[in-house]
Amino acid sequence: MSATYNFCAGPAMLPAAVMQQAQAELLDWNGQGVSVMEVSHRSKEFIALTEQAEADLRELMSIPDNYHVLFMHGGGRGQFAAVVNNFLGNDGRALYLVDGSWSIAAAEEAIKLVGEQNVDVLNIVEKDNNISRVVVPNLSGIEQDYRYLHYCPNETVDGIEIFDELDSPWPIVADMSSNIMSRDIDVSRFGLIYAGAQKNIGPSGLSIVIVKDELLALPQLPQASIMDYRLAVKHDSMYNTPPTFAWYLAAEVFKWLKGKGGIAEMAKLNTQKAQALYQFIDSNDFYETRVAKANRSQMNVTFYLKDESLNEQFITQAKEAGLVALKGHRSVGGMRASIYNAMPIEGVEALVRFMRDFAEKISRS
Ligand SMILES: *Cc1c(COP(=O)(O)O)cnc(C)c1O
Repeated sequence: MSATYNFCAGPAMLPAAVMQQAQAELLDWNGQGVSVMEVSHRSKEFIALTEQAEADLRELMSIPDNYHVLFMHGGGRGQFAAVVNNFLGNDGRALYLVDGSWSIAAAEEAIKLVGEQNVDVLNIVEKDNNISRVVVPNLSGIEQDYRYLHYCPNETVDGIEIFDELDSPWPIVADMSSNIMSRDIDVSRFGLIYAGAQKNIGPSGLSIVIVKDELLALPQLPQASIMDYRLAVKHDSMYNTPPTFAWYLAAEVFKWLKGKGGIAEMAKLNTQKAQALYQFIDSNDFYETRVAKANRSQMNVTFYLKDESLNEQFITQAKEAGLVALKGHRSVGGMRASIYNAMPIEGVEALVRFMRDFAEKISRS
């Protein structure tokens, strides 16, 4: 059987080497004769795993000492609520920038919890000739005392990425679910970074939270204890039983990343992969993207066949060629190739080859 390349947006493919490692030690982890799924989260072996995972993540992302790293439940959406409940208190307001469907969903969750009067929503996408572009206004010109500004630097569904760092007078909360560890960022510019694990880290159910110490002093709202950042800090992310298998796999992915030379090396590959795909799409008039060059996501490449009546044929034949999960999100249609860290360059090359062959075959018929 020839290789299958999985372009699913999430849960997404994991590095083959990590999956093989997990398979090899599934029934006997660490020489204990039992699976990592079957041991106490408070055992010294599992604690050692969590300490190594945090140390590796801190090293990979150069996380400063005045930040806590939390491994929590509830994926990305769990954090939509946690951020509000942990930071807004009874009298806080927040600003939500909107550049696609996940940032809208985060704003809607905030409105649900604290009401419209406490949540300002600012659209930052302009559409020109069907091409989307991010335009961030001068935030210092806004006279409001927000507890935080929330934004999503990579919109997974829309394929829109914001590469420029924001200049914000308020602490920045960033939903990096789909681009965390895809390139170097300066953590010290953020108040809080969160990411559901299932795009670029590991299996679903786990979320990573990186939070600046001083934000934990903000007034809270009443909330479920398992989503309380202060309790998570106090209990080393083990206030209750954490998703241990997901944590273990995430730890293996961090080791794998270190072995690959870290995030800077990964970023080079990611740029190479995205460029190969966008260059091909730009080079012919069979396919098109609808995102301005400056905001084309390196992780989620959204594209369209100019003749959309061929969509189904494209999906079917791609699948036959071992290229799966290319269908775009139902809200935007078209195609989407998610090419996270785990996607090898060979997968992108195979996709470009298929797209070229498909276009040639159609134009000959
Ligand atoms: C997938 C995703 C989410 C939602 O994650 P869940 O774990 O399903 O709640 C939130 N934000 C972004 C940017 C995502 O890509």
